[in-house]
Formats: sequence, C-alpha cells, structure tokens
Amino acid sequence: MSNIAKNIEAVRKRIMLAASKCGRSPDDVHLLAISKIKPATAVKEAFNAGQKLFGENYVQELKEKHEKLSDLDIEWHFTGHLQRNKVKYVVPFVKAIHSLDSIKLATEINRRAERQIDCFIEVNVAEEASKTGTSAEKIYELVTAISKMTKLNLVGLMTMPPYDQNPEESRPYFSRLRHALDDINKKGIYPKKLTELSMGMTGDMEVAIEEGSTYVRVGTAIFGGRA
Ligand SMILES: *Cc1c(COP(=O)(O)O)cnc(C)c1O
Repeated sequence: MSNIAKNIEAVRKRIMLAASKCGRSPDDVHLLAISKIKPATAVKEAFNAGQKLFGENYVQELKEKHEKLSDLDIEWHFTGHLQRNKVKYVVPFVKAIHSLDSIKLATEINRRAERQIDCFIEVNVAEEASKTGTSAEKIYELVTAISKMTKLNLVGLMTMPPYDQNPEESRPYFSRLRHALDDINKKGIYPKKLTELSMGMTGDMEVAIEEGSTYVRVGTAIFGGRA
C-alpha cells in the first residue's frame, strides 16, 4: 500500500472513532482531501485508494489538476479565497464552493454558473482581521440574498478557526458555527433546511466531528506537510 493510501485509511479510522464516540454515524461525515500544493500524481494516488472528494484552494492549480485528471470521476470542491474575476474558471466543473463570503461573490457565481453549485458560507467566527469569511452579523443578509439566486444551492456553513496546537481551542468556534446554522434554520430565512458544516482539519477533526461537522477538510494527514 502507498503512503497516501495508508494515510487515508488512518484518517478514515480517526473519523470512525470520533463519530462513534459521540454517537454519530461515520457516513454523515464526508472526508474532503485537501490537495493544494500537491501534484496531480498525489491526487491520483489518493483517488486509486478510494478517495473521491478533493478540495483545492488556488484557481490555477485546480484548473490544471482538473484538466490532467479529467478521466477520473473526482468531485472537486473549492475551499480557498475566491476572487470574483476567477469565478468563471471554476464554476464549469466544481460541485461545491466552501468560501462564499460576500453578496458580490455570490452574484458573480450566480451569473456565471450554468447549473446549481452547492455553497457554504464561510464565517470568520473568531472575527480575525487577517482572515476572510463573513462576520457573524452579516450572515443573515447574505443568506437572504442567496435565497434569490437560482444557481446557488446553499447547503451550510464553513469555518477555519485560529490555528492552535491544542484542538480543544477550536471547540468554541465549531460550536459557534453549529449554533449559527441552527439559528438560520430556526428563523427560516432560507427556503430549505441547511444541514452541512464544513469544519475540522488535520489537527482538530475529532473535535469538529463532536461539534457536528459533516465535512472535514484534511490535507496534511493525507498528503504530508506542505513546503
Ligand atoms: C489547507 C487547508 C485545509 C487542510 O489543512 P491541514 O491542516 O493540512 O489538514 C483545510 N481547509 C482549508 C480551507 C485549507 O486552506
């Protein structure tokens, strides 16, 4: 077995353990392999080990890997900061965008997409000045605007908490994101129930799963460290 295949097996085991520990079904937690900076050959290796969902952060890289690997039945997700002038390059083939953070970006996706794209609103839960993502107060305005955009299928929320060695430090942010999702559903400001929480990475996926994550975004534990 290749290293990547072994790593994927280990990550799946971590997901299973974390889910069973809190009484959730592991099937409700999707593993999104974050392949940024890694070559197409690494993606192919992961695909051959049974991994179907991949997330990329950079438009040019995603475009190149998508072209190189077009014969594989990969579900591509975009997870990085998306500039409006790059939207046209990714909407033809991505299944989901995890980094929706403004009405302007949503409008451009709606204008360019020829079919529905699953979208996550990225929330800057810690209100860090250095980070992208919408602030907590702006979520409702954004959800309301998206509900009028026919090409956007809003499915949930995404966050990336401040980095900390101790995964427990991420818990309050994950919990805040879950409450924000519950709140949108309670208030009924989107026409259908939002069910997805994109949260948890290599260092804190167990805590994220305990707090309700449905998409863990894992790079390092699958592909190794990035230069
Ligand atoms: C890089 C990245 C990840 C993966 O981080 P790891 O710690 O390598 O697992 C997840 N989400 C986003 C948005 C990223 O940029």
